[in-house]
This record gives sequence, C-alpha cells and structure tokens, in this order.
Amino acid sequence: CTFSELGLAQWALQTCKELGMRKPTPVQSHCIPRILAGDDVLGLAQTGSGKTAAFALPILHRFAEDPYGVFALVVTPTRELAYQLAEQFRALGSCLHLRCAVVVGGMDMITQAQTLMQRPHVVIATPGRIKVLLEDNPDIPSVFSKTKFLVLDEADRVLDVGFEEELRVVFQCLPKDRQTLLFSATMTSDLQTLLELSANKAYFYEA
Ligand code: AMP
Repeated sequence: CTFSELGLAQWALQTCKELGMRKPTPVQSHCIPRILAGDDVLGLAQTGSGKTAAFALPILHRFAEDPYGVFALVVTPTRELAYQLAEQFRALGSCLHLRCAVVVGGMDMITQAQTLMQRPHVVIATPGRIKVLLEDNPDIPSVFSKTKFLVLDEADRVLDVGFEEELRVVFQCLPKDRQTLLFSATMTSDLQTLLELSANKAYFYEA
C-alpha cells in the first residue's frame, strides 16, 4: 500500500516523500491506521523495520491537530536509542516546529527538570532518569497530566534490565485515557504482564 492510504495528513505524506520514504514498511502499514484509530498497539518489530516512524507518524498526525506539550512520552532502554529516536521525531516533525527533549542519564538533572517544565511536545527518556525526575521534583508529574501517548520502545530490553519499578512510576503519572504503544523485538511474559497494566485491549502486530 501507499502512505496516502494510511490516513495520514498531507503534511506527513509530504515529509515522508522528502525523507525518501516511498512506501510504508509492513509494521507501518499495519500499525499506523490502528494508532490513528485510537487503539493501543503491541508491535513485534526489529530495529531497521521502520518501527520508529510506525509510531512517530501517527503521534505527530494527532499532535498537529491539537498541539500542546507534553503530548507524548517515549521510554527507551539506552541513551543512544533515545538520541536516535529524537533525531527521527525531529526529522518527521520538522514542519510542525516540534520541540523534542531527550531526558537521559549523564546529563545535569536541574537542567532536565527545567526543560521538562517548559513542556516540550515530545519527551524521549530512559527509564532510570525519568523515574528520578518524576519522584524528586513535585512539579514534574503534572507536566504529563494531559499526555496522549506513552511509547515503550524496545520494551523487552527495558524489562530485561529490570526496570519494572521505573515503569510503574511512569505509568502512574500518565492519564488513564492515554494510548499505549509497545514495541519489542521479542514477545516475553513480562511484556504480557505489562500489557495488562494498560487499560485498553491492544492490537497485536507480528511480522
Ligand atoms: P527503525 O526501524 O525505526 O530504526 O528505522 C530504520 C531506518 O529506516 C530509519 O533510518 C528510517 O529513516 C528508515 N525508514 C523508516 N521507514 C521507512 C520507509 N517507509 N521507507 C524507507 N526508509 C524508511
């Protein structure tokens, strides 16, 4: 199929074209319509499958309709992945004046708290650092009180490292009516448990 059949806005189709994305990858053609329809998604997809755009495009489509911060929180296991995700969000959201913040370990926490207080549109975080920021600064949880999307990228790796406690703190700070999007290379029982924490029934995608 083509990007224009997936229900994305004209600006998004143009952006895909400019970035050389000629046609959707399988994870994109399956997940984008479901995310636009409001469903939670559990996607089994490897890095290189185009999974980032599979969640970033529909999130940005919704964001463009009603832009405010913090619209989406993306949790990913490593700093490197966080920066890569931010790069893709910025590229895909370049015509939206998207403000995207990376919140990872090894950076000054006071600066990060200030950045969050300015309510960036998209926050990309590692689990350890976002937990500390949410718990140590009483003003930070309310920054996420209207957040529409929670993405867990490489969720199997996040769980492998034993970040259940961190995720619990994150889940608690987000509104119940948000959409939850889980992407993982493998299906694990931890993932199933995590999915059950999410209120909605998720669409399951497997390549
Ligand atoms: P990811 O699986 O999200 O790590 O994406 C892998 C790479 O594929 C990224 O550099 C994307 O820019 C690129 N990409 C994503 N979707 C498409 C597409 N539909 N056509 C061509 N390249 C794509």
